[in-house]
Order: sequence, then structure tokens, then C-alpha cells
Amino acid sequence: MRLTILGSGTSVASKIRKSPGYLLEINGTLNLLDCGPGIIHQLAHTQYIIQDISNIFISHVHLDHVNELFMLFFSNRYHVLKNKTKKTFKVFSSEYNIKFLLNVEKFYRKWIYDPVNKYIFVPLENMYTVDFEGFKVVTLSTYHTEGSLMFKFILGNKVFLYAGDTGLCQNLIDFSQNVDYLLIECSLPSEHKIDTHMDPGKLFQLIERSSPKNVILTHFYPEMDEHIEEIEQLRLKARNVGTNVIISKDLMKVDIL
Ligand SMILES: [Zn+2]
Ligand SMILES: [Zn+2]
Repeated sequence: MRLTILGSGTSVASKIRKSPGYLLEINGTLNLLDCGPGIIHQLAHTQYIIQDISNIFISHVHLDHVNELFMLFFSNRYHVLKNKTKKTFKVFSSEYNIKFLLNVEKFYRKWIYDPVNKYIFVPLENMYTVDFEGFKVVTLSTYHTEGSLMFKFILGNKVFLYAGDTGLCQNLIDFSQNVDYLLIECSLPSEHKIDTHMDPGKLFQLIERSSPKNVILTHFYPEMDEHIEEIEQLRLKARNVGTNVIISKDLMKVDIL
């Protein structure tokens, strides 16, 4: 598995961090986790093009995580016309989120849908397992918005969890137990804490209770970058309990070994 961070920021303008979007390559299958504004242009800084993506996983429908989805289908028309290629994308999310996205899709359909430029929306239930070629994905709801889902990718004995946006909750603690890699938000400093988002204090509580081997922090608001010393302290405290903390940057690659 190989992770490429397309955007490690939020909805707030930043010189260094785009909105959320992550590529996870598993055995040659390219998965996109969330599709925030700006991530299509970030692809130009990687070895990938839109048509390399097969599966798109949407954690929730806040605009910083989903606003470029229909743009992605629109942009794909260029590749379809230029290269005469066919492409079908599959979009996975909770039933609530898929219903929401289908409501929006009808406004754009005449510009984005044609028989060679297809997309299929696949609603997933909570606590559901989907089998792909060589790997599987398990879902669990989390504490953020109605319909928010976490996605756990399992390849052999390797486990990678994308938690999306979330507060600290029992589902998150249960789902993070001993995972090899946890990609999770670290939105704000502890002094600005919000119930439905993570901060360094809550992240350490999670690390103590769930013992993930590696934690990749993302979704930084500018205030969090201004308190980078708090993340450094978290990194040192986590190391003492056996967890490696990685601070993500846009276009960073992480081999999930
Ligand atoms: Zn967000
Ligand atoms: Zn959100």
C-alpha cells in the first residue's frame, strides 16, 4: 500500500495545505479518499492522472471533503475525448451521504454523465465489509455529521484506517485498536477544542487507549500550524507509549509497510 497526501488542510485558505484528498494505492488499484477543492490540480504534481483512480471513498459531505467530486467527473471528459478511453468510477459512502450526493448530481448530470464517462454510487451500511481484488474495506460510523463513515483497508495482515473528520468516540477507539496506520485529523490546538474534531489532547487519549502503530496527522487548520509545538509534544509522548506520529504535508508519500 502507498499513501499520497494531496491535501492536508481544511476549508480555510492556506499557502501550504489544500483541502482533504488522499490517494491510497493497493496492489495497483488506486483509491481516492475524499475529494476536496484543489485536489485535481494536485494530481499534476504526482505520477497519477484522474483515470488511474478506480474507487472514491467519501467520509462525509462537508464541502472541504466532497466539493471537487463532480468536477472530477467533468474534468475526466477531457481524458475521454483526448485518449478515447472509457472509465467507470465507483463512489462509496454511507446511505445518507449517497442520497445527498445523488440529489446534487442531478443538477450537473447533463455535463458530466455519458456512456463512456460513468460513475456508480454505492451506498454502504454501517459495519459493512466490501471485497475488492486482493483487499477489503470495512466501514464504521463516527462522531462528526450524520452519515460520517470511517474506512478500514485490509491487505493481508496490514491494516490502514482513514477516520475522516471525527470527535473522540467509542467507535473510533474500537476501530483504531492496534491498526498499522491511522490517518486522522488534528484540526485545532487543544485550547480551541471542538467536540466533533480532534486536537492533540484527544489524540493522545486515543493513542493510549487504542495503541495504533503509526498515526498520520492531517486536516490542520492554520491555528494548529501556529501551535506546532503542541504536535511535537504529542509526538514525543506517543513515542513513549510505542506509537509513531507522522505530521503530514501536501504531496508527502507514505509507504504502508
Ligand atoms: Zn473537514
Ligand atoms: Zn467535516
